[in-house]
Amino acid sequence: MKRNIFILLLTLFLTSLLYAKEEVKLYFHNNTLSNAQTALLFLEGSHITQAKLTFEKLHIDFLPHPHKKESFFALIPISYYHKPNAYKVIVSYKHQGEKIFKGIFLTVVDAQYKSEILSVQPSKIYLSQEDKKRTQEEYADAMKVYNQTTKGLVTSFIKPLSTPITSDFGNQRLYNNTLQSFHSGTDFKAAIGTPIYSSANGVVKIAKNRFYAGNSVVIDHGYGVYSCYYHLDSLKVKEGQKIKQNELLGYSGNTGRVTGPHLHFAIRIKNIIVDPLQFIKIINILQ
Ligand SMILES: [Zn+2]
Repeated sequence: MKRNIFILLLTLFLTSLLYAKEEVKLYFHNNTLSNAQTALLFLEGSHITQAKLTFEKLHIDFLPHPHKKESFFALIPISYYHKPNAYKVIVSYKHQGEKIFKGIFLTVVDAQYKSEILSVQPSKIYLSQEDKKRTQEEYADAMKVYNQTTKGLVTSFIKPLSTPITSDFGNQRLYNNTLQSFHSGTDFKAAIGTPIYSSANGVVKIAKNRFYAGNSVVIDHGYGVYSCYYHLDSLKVKEGQKIKQNELLGYSGNTGRVTGPHLHFAIRIKNIIVDPLQFIKIINILQ
């Protein structure tokens, strides 16, 4: 009799161990950030599969952490136009065969980007019919690229130059007293002919002359992450070419809509323009 009770208790104990819910952790590296910054979200625990999230209209997958077991990460791009507020991110995953949904909040605060006034060639502001058509075609081609998400993600990025920054990302710009926009990248000081190297491994998706960007290179790094290098004097890569971090892309110049020679460096995630230097800091947390 005693033996039977012992076996029953032992069975109950082992069953409870088998079905005990292992702890799953969900947390942000940075849960308060400015508009146009990138959030890094971690999901940790064993037996997790199919982890993804929904934020506003974006559907984003978690990827395995490059160096940590039983850890996943997701990048969430906040648009420049996101208003300061608390936003709910819905995370879903399968854990021990069960589908789980969790909500987690991130807070967006106003970056208070500065304003700047620029004057460029009037022909880059008041477009001829021909140029208008050209910019529309170039825009459509670029959107086709930026809306593609290839698998995986390169997680090591470096700044393309270490020269002084001549115009910060996000500056509210007024061109020739008429055209308003915001600065979609970071400008680095670069005399004509300065070699420009890739920020990370990837595949060249655009390598050609464009109306606003001039001679430009756009590289696909997976996960919908693209790096852009604009206003180059000459290009040394071709579309479709695989590229390594620190590989020569071309030489800097003053082509396209510019006030002078410099390198315009930009990052897009899922077709959302983000602060490239904050992105590099965040992605390198994974190293
Ligand atoms: Zn720029």
